[in-house]
Amino acid sequence: MLVSVAVRPLFEFDNSFVRDLRGLYEPWRAAPAPAPRLLVLNEELATELGADADALRAPDGVAVLVGNATAYGASPVAQAYAGHQFGRFSPRLGDGRALLLGEVLDVLGRRRDLHLKGSGPTPFARTGDGKAAVGPMLREYVIGEAMHSLGIRTTRALAVVATGEQIARDAMLPGAVLTRVAASHLRVGTFEYAADHGDPTLVRRLADHAIVRHYPHAVEAENQYLAFFEGVVDAQASLVARWMLVGFIHGVMNTDNMTISGETIDFGPCAFMDAFDSATVFSSIDHRGRYAYGNQPQIAHWNLARLAETLLPLFDVGTEAAIAAATDVLESFTARYHGYWGDGMRAKLGLGDAQRGDGELIDDLLALLHAQKVDFTLFFRALSSSILGEAAPARSLFVERSAFDAWAVRWRELLSCQTRGPQTIAAAMDHVNPVYTPRNHRVEEALAAATDGDLGPFRRLLGVLAEPFNERLGLEPYVAPAPPSFGPYRTFCGT
Ligand code: AMP
Ligand code: MG
Repeated sequence: MLVSVAVRPLFEFDNSFVRDLRGLYEPWRAAPAPAPRLLVLNEELATELGADADALRAPDGVAVLVGNATAYGASPVAQAYAGHQFGRFSPRLGDGRALLLGEVLDVLGRRRDLHLKGSGPTPFARTGDGKAAVGPMLREYVIGEAMHSLGIRTTRALAVVATGEQIARDAMLPGAVLTRVAASHLRVGTFEYAADHGDPTLVRRLADHAIVRHYPHAVEAENQYLAFFEGVVDAQASLVARWMLVGFIHGVMNTDNMTISGETIDFGPCAFMDAFDSATVFSSIDHRGRYAYGNQPQIAHWNLARLAETLLPLFDVGTEAAIAAATDVLESFTARYHGYWGDGMRAKLGLGDAQRGDGELIDDLLALLHAQKVDFTLFFRALSSSILGEAAPARSLFVERSAFDAWAVRWRELLSCQTRGPQTIAAAMDHVNPVYTPRNHRVEEALAAATDGDLGPFRRLLGVLAEPFNERLGLEPYVAPAPPSFGPYRTFCGT
């Protein structure tokens, strides 16, 4: 008797990028991994994608997550993109070590890319080996989850699988493949590639695809491509404001690392700032501080200008009028950014609607935090206690306490204009000021242990960061910044 077993596919793919955008990818296959071993699976995200976590953990599932097997319905491609890297244009970057497997409609009907990173060299690899190491891939996993739990739009990791291969970096390191989930992998650099490619219809096809996917309301506008651009400008203004409000430094805001969707992407040299200082840079390759904490809004604006340049021919109004229209929208970035950032700062301080004097109060606070090298995360979290009559937690973070006291008098004055009671205000502040961020020494400790085969610290860190606003007993070691013995922190692209 023949028994037929209906095997449910791992994912239900529907691959619109491959259907719509020939010319922007090369079909490709992952390099075989000799001995795959699943290190982490994001069960919550698997469920969101309508996938069965047990099936993903099974050998056939792991084979798909490491690239040894092609999932039913996937059509793996290496995506083409260009990019301005540290201000200089590279016409051909693309997925040198990554593959788009395809798109899945999640349980809420949202289209999500499934993408492998570290899956072997592609036609875009140039001199790279196409591989990735366990440490940097787990770093992308944990920082992405931290951002997600902080409520910041981000790509996320579904899994990290060790390949069983050693790869050559400064030392020999264990290799890994990350499965990344994103609203899409369309980047500013994707538009730059299309515009640079000599086929005038390609940018239009790309923009049409991006509109359907991310800014469907734009089709109703009088000029849908201008409305699309405005959508991206607004999404990035909001995103970068959210980064700034938690002290996140992306580290490599090249145009190929900026999404059209408004999600954070590419957690290479990123890190969270400890003591408040706009000039903070962690990346070992950012010698001139182009991507320093305080420069991020300006850089986003600069990157959006590069996007605008690719879209001008689509506005269909003649060059001069197109430039004028694009400039108007581009210049709205600053006001949008300040709007989002100001709302966020007032929320962090427990203030309600904008009121006279709040801008100065915020500026003076930041100057004070900088002058006295106060930890950004600790300060804001401690501040809610001051409302409940306990000034010490915030005050003790300052060397010159009188300067804080003088500021706090002005702050209280503004607070008193509200109808909300102190308990309500303090609770609202604790809802936006995290206790737990990925402290640099904790991240490094977890990645070093994982590289040596112990995933315990990594899992514990993930658990802590899953609820950043919920202070829990016993987790004190995750609160404080790195001790001085940790030394100045340097991050690497991990390529
Ligand atoms: P990233 O710095 O990760 O944003 O990467 C910039 C560019 O370098 C992209 O085109 C990547 O695909 C490529 N790249 C980075 N690392 C490697 C590698 N190990 N092998 C091949 N290409 C790489
Ligand atoms: Mg990148």
